[in-house]
Amino acid sequence: MTPHQERTGPGAVPAQAAFLPAPEGTKKAVTDFLKTLMDQGGLDALLVPVEVPDTPFHAWVMVKKSEVLDKAHPLPPVMSVQGGRALSSLTKHGTPWLHIAAVMRPCEARAAVELAKLKQVRLDNVVLITIDCPGALPLAEYVADPEKGQERYKTVADTWHENEFLRPACARCHRFSLTGLEDGPSEGPAPDDAPASVDIHIGLLGEDQNGILLLPVTPSGAEILKKTGLEADRPTAGWESRVRDLLKKKKEKRQAAHEEFRKDITGLDRFLTVFDPCINCHNCMNVCPVCYCQQCYFDTQTQFCTSSVYMDRARKRGALRFPPDPLLFHLGRMSHMVLSCVSCGACEDACPVSIPVGKVFSWVADETQPAFGYSAGTDRGDPLPLQNFLKEEFCEIETPSACGQAQSTEVKENA
Ligand code: SF4
Ligand code: SF4
Ligand code: SF4
Repeated sequence: MTPHQERTGPGAVPAQAAFLPAPEGTKKAVTDFLKTLMDQGGLDALLVPVEVPDTPFHAWVMVKKSEVLDKAHPLPPVMSVQGGRALSSLTKHGTPWLHIAAVMRPCEARAAVELAKLKQVRLDNVVLITIDCPGALPLAEYVADPEKGQERYKTVADTWHENEFLRPACARCHRFSLTGLEDGPSEGPAPDDAPASVDIHIGLLGEDQNGILLLPVTPSGAEILKKTGLEADRPTAGWESRVRDLLKKKKEKRQAAHEEFRKDITGLDRFLTVFDPCINCHNCMNVCPVCYCQQCYFDTQTQFCTSSVYMDRARKRGALRFPPDPLLFHLGRMSHMVLSCVSCGACEDACPVSIPVGKVFSWVADETQPAFGYSAGTDRGDPLPLQNFLKEEFCEIETPSACGQAQSTEVKENA
């Protein structure tokens, strides 16, 4: 056995996968697989984007009849509703009695994993299925001209990130495939103990372009694939190598974009300038999958002061803008959720004045999550950083003198 074949960890990239030929294209092969899952995989329903009749749009639909899956499209041209939010609406008020599968883009599944940790999604009876994602188009551009958007999306699906049509979040996305590969080393074998966040992954970037790969990531994913009669006997090495090549390019692109952006945004004045056009509509918050509070402080009257307070401020500063303090909203939102930001770009897509809000949040997420040894949504078993206090964490800031003697003991866990 090669080291690749020996992998056995719970989220290890499987050495072998089932293969489905795609003589009529990968979209048809994927929907055929979903139908097989419904009919033979022991599942009661599937949550998946489905075409809205007579429109160029898609909606999340819980499908009970497999013939509806003819209109399913797990990779629609735009992300109109983030899948993590859709799964939250379905499951947050209790474990579904149906055994369902949710078929999502990787950033949507990562949001679902974060929401499960925040008790906004129940995954107990849910099989998570992800798919290699070529990206999505900017929502506003697609809405303005859906026909052109559909043409462009064909290019996106054919060229895999090497085109100018993608949303900015997708152009720099380095987590477009299976988690174990994305967060593993860029060269050498993927780690055997890679975290498990999804049950089955659909590989489209295979060496053999005439079909799709169905990777059983967790034992429950393997069990479901077994029920469908699909044999996991196809080596995944070719697919893995293509994903890694693209991953390397995407990581470099992301790094370069962040470096460039750092220059634009560092310093209070520059930071203020980025958010200057904000009209305080809160769209970015309303579409964000991990902004889940039922009552946001920034939507209450509590944040407003009396007129005399505003008068006083205007007198001191010379002028005061209204509604007041949009920056406070962004900083407040950021401090609440950036450790769970999955860089999906939904916020940026929803901004009516084109503020690069997704760029800001994903940049801050990339800076802060590693400080906690955390990567949002990549490991179901990894507790949220602020619910899991480690004695030595940030001791260089709090008690530098005691840093050397700090024990690596976990003193409190209330996750
Ligand atoms: S952010 Fe990544 S996973 Fe999400 S739609 Fe874009 S390319 Fe796909
Ligand atoms: S802040 Fe933006 S990029 Fe981050 S999870 Fe929310 S919507 Fe996605
Ligand atoms: S969507 Fe844009 S304009 Fe609206 S609050 Fe967010 S950043 Fe401001």
